[in-house]
Amino acid sequence: MQYKKLAQLYEDLSSTTKRLEKIEILSKFLSYLSKEDRDVMYLLEGMIYPEYDDRKIGISNQLAIKAISKATGIEPKQVTKEWKSIGDLGEVSKKLMQNKKQSTLHSHVLTTEKVLENLRKLPGLEGKGTVDKKIGLITELLTSASSIEAQYLVRTLIGDLRIGVQESTIREAMSSAFFDRNGKSSEIIQKAIDKANDLAIVFDIAKKGKLKELEKVSLEIGKPIKAMLAQKATSFKEGFEKVGKPCAVEYKYDGFRMIIHKRGKEVFLFTRMLENVTKQFPEVVEYILEYVKGNSFILDSEAVGFNKKTKEYTDFQAISQRIRRKYDISKLQKELPIEVNVFDVLYYNGKSTLDEPFEKRTKLLRKILKDHPYKIIASKMIITDDEKEADKFYKKALDDNQEGVMMKSLSADYRPGRRVGNMVKMKPEERDLDLVITGAEYGTGKRSGWLSSFILSCGGEKKGEYLEIGKVGTGIAEKDNEITFESLTELLTPLITKEKGKNAEIKPKIVVSVTYQEIQRSPNYNSGWALRFPRFTALRPDKPLKEIADLKEVSEAFNNQKRNWRFG
Ligand code: AMP
Repeated sequence: MQYKKLAQLYEDLSSTTKRLEKIEILSKFLSYLSKEDRDVMYLLEGMIYPEYDDRKIGISNQLAIKAISKATGIEPKQVTKEWKSIGDLGEVSKKLMQNKKQSTLHSHVLTTEKVLENLRKLPGLEGKGTVDKKIGLITELLTSASSIEAQYLVRTLIGDLRIGVQESTIREAMSSAFFDRNGKSSEIIQKAIDKANDLAIVFDIAKKGKLKELEKVSLEIGKPIKAMLAQKATSFKEGFEKVGKPCAVEYKYDGFRMIIHKRGKEVFLFTRMLENVTKQFPEVVEYILEYVKGNSFILDSEAVGFNKKTKEYTDFQAISQRIRRKYDISKLQKELPIEVNVFDVLYYNGKSTLDEPFEKRTKLLRKILKDHPYKIIASKMIITDDEKEADKFYKKALDDNQEGVMMKSLSADYRPGRRVGNMVKMKPEERDLDLVITGAEYGTGKRSGWLSSFILSCGGEKKGEYLEIGKVGTGIAEKDNEITFESLTELLTPLITKEKGKNAEIKPKIVVSVTYQEIQRSPNYNSGWALRFPRFTALRPDKPLKEIADLKEVSEAFNNQKRNWRFG
């Protein structure tokens, strides 16, 4: 397919903010998209493979600038200058290509196959000359691109497509293109997406127009699926209202999500960001092979750290380095041991159990897993309809250094990737928010050369909108804390989009957990709120941007503030 057609679709989609119009535009496009062009589905989401695939495009702004410079013959410095004034590298390349195209005629017609072919070579490049090879591959595409094509190519490269299309838009567009868009087909498509986690595969089947075939899409061992997420409750009364009586009340563990797949002797471990972390946790592979019965299964769990001497549970921050660290694994394993707390079974011996009620899944789990404390156990759980009993269990969880409890409906199915009302979390309203870094300031004196003060933002009302809520500069270089000025500077520098004097604007990407003393109304930040005494507690590479606190959560936290004092 000509890339021109896709670029036109991107233009049309960006021209409206109305969801229904977007669905209609996309639906028309999909009904003409042929089976051979199914990988265009990935490009629609700004990707080259399904989301779970580790091979990402991963081009930095700086590299994109070099490629734009090479394709247009304009000095990188000049490109950077344009970027600073326009603020969007896609727009910059469009403008610069426009100027260029007046003098030269491009000879090739760019196709989506060619775009995918070149982009897919990028992640595999390694070793000497990688940068030049990457620039070569990108420049080849840019030189045969029109200005509009260049705009979207560059946006795809840097992972910032800006067409306002979500998975749900694509789902509705498929439903309307291939079925008479009704609730049922939309739901079946969603379930197929949840299980396959691959839009090209679902498109391929949906295109045949047979709902029965879509219903057959199943989970696959070794292919990550998204984790189900919880809503919040502020009291047990509210919790019971949401999930029904009686319900399961489980410890809410303060660790990180681990979804475990097994087939025969093969084990795969995934985080909730769909990253494969099997190599980092060899002990978990052992526990699974030894202590869980079954030929094949998928388990949902939380890995929690504990102190190797006192056996007390530690918080997430204490073990967070285990997720990333690729060397000295056995040493780290001894120093920072974890216990796997399993709370769900999503697949068992060849069959998905997603549609089974939770009560049945949790029974199955407790049948196939033999508890080995400090290695792997089934989550601590009670089933109750009594607020007092639930509260007692909650206090016990807090005494055990855990975050609180989860309340789960006994009859609910498992919905990958959804934040559902039939699983709610109850935790003390500690003053803690997940926010994103959107700016920073270079330090002076001892800290000169490092970014040393960081602007935090929460989510705004619109998707992709981030509003400032505070600045943090302390709590960074504390002992045993992974976050230092050095590490943050290194992490943030490639994300700088603009610099002015000591101040840098930063592309929202790095999510952090922050504690604070109080939220106040404030005219100083564009969110209208300010945090008093904010302090970093952890980097949250496991949290996607869309899950940071938004204005609603901030104002709820503000309203709850008084009540919080109870918890001390
Ligand atoms: P939050 O990150 O505050 O939105 O809370 C949801 C997270 O709690 C999930 O993504 C899990 O990683 C974690 N969690 C801890 N214990 C449980 C449990 N028993 N059931 C489900 N999720 C749990």
